[in-house]
Amino acid sequence: MAKTIDLAENYDEAVSKGSDILRHGGLVAVPTETVYGLAADACNAKAVERIYSAKGRPAFNPLISHVSGIQMAQQFGVFDDRAAVLAREFWPGALTIVLPLKPGTKLAAAVTAGLDTIALRHPVGAMADLARRLDRLIAAPSANSSGRISPTKAEHVADGLGDKIDLILDGGPCAVGLESTVVKCLDGKIALLREGGVSREEIEAVAGPISDQSFGEIEAPGMMLKHYAPSKPVRLDADHAENGEALLGFGPKANGAALNLSPSGNLEEVARNLFAMLHELDRMDCSGIAVQHIPETGIGAAINDRLRRAAAGSAK
Ligand code: AMP
Ligand code: MG
Repeated sequence: MAKTIDLAENYDEAVSKGSDILRHGGLVAVPTETVYGLAADACNAKAVERIYSAKGRPAFNPLISHVSGIQMAQQFGVFDDRAAVLAREFWPGALTIVLPLKPGTKLAAAVTAGLDTIALRHPVGAMADLARRLDRLIAAPSANSSGRISPTKAEHVADGLGDKIDLILDGGPCAVGLESTVVKCLDGKIALLREGGVSREEIEAVAGPISDQSFGEIEAPGMMLKHYAPSKPVRLDADHAENGEALLGFGPKANGAALNLSPSGNLEEVARNLFAMLHELDRMDCSGIAVQHIPETGIGAAINDRLRRAAAGSAK
């Protein structure tokens, strides 16, 4: 079982241990503001290969690369004007920007699954500090087995991947709780590939309209329909639990709910609680999970996206 180090106890020492392991090709679970990531040196092909095998992740699903700032990002991705505005406005933060990959870098080909684009993010906290200390790009998908719920606490990582990785850095519960928003910037256009911690409205307010037309070649596999799934059936827009189900409530009128995503009806709180509560209900003595309606506004769009994927394949 991987050792867990609490970042609150001695932050600098924990980051230094983490970066030593990464430098030698190891795998470290690291908290970010979105979810916990499974980190490896993005220029070490063997280490990147270990990410795919630990997660059981299909080889066609590219990884997000994490940077310590825009300078590191510019060594790997070609920023157009709109991409530069997005990075300036939202980094460090919950926005991943997919850009043309610069030729001639030492990046392991598996990081981009062989594509000629790269997904870059400057996250808040320990992941960026590790990249800075290593002076390397860090490849990190969410630290869960492929297709399962993303981890928002160190315990989730230990339960899911504890015997397959080298170290877990414990930074407590994640502040946002949903994965990053993924946009692609190409030929002056912005496409939204995955809803997440930064909303469409926030992006359009600073960088102008998102064109929804697909750019064609990729299927961002985070967009595969069944993803982020608990092992039990999930039923959406429920107003009560039926035989054996547990009700996951929202707002003040959640009578009989086993857990409530936000008693006051706050969507940021729902995002923070969603994955931890799905993990908890998955372990609880119930046959299925019934979820009350969540509004689509702001981060509600990303919350409902994850809920629809959690429910896909259920109740058949
Ligand atoms: P995660 O497994 O949560 O880290 O998700 C990473 C997301 O970023 C997935 O949906 C990937 O498909 C997407 N992604 C990573 N690299 C690229 C890329 N070069 N082009 C398009 N999507 C990408
Ligand atoms: Mg993931």
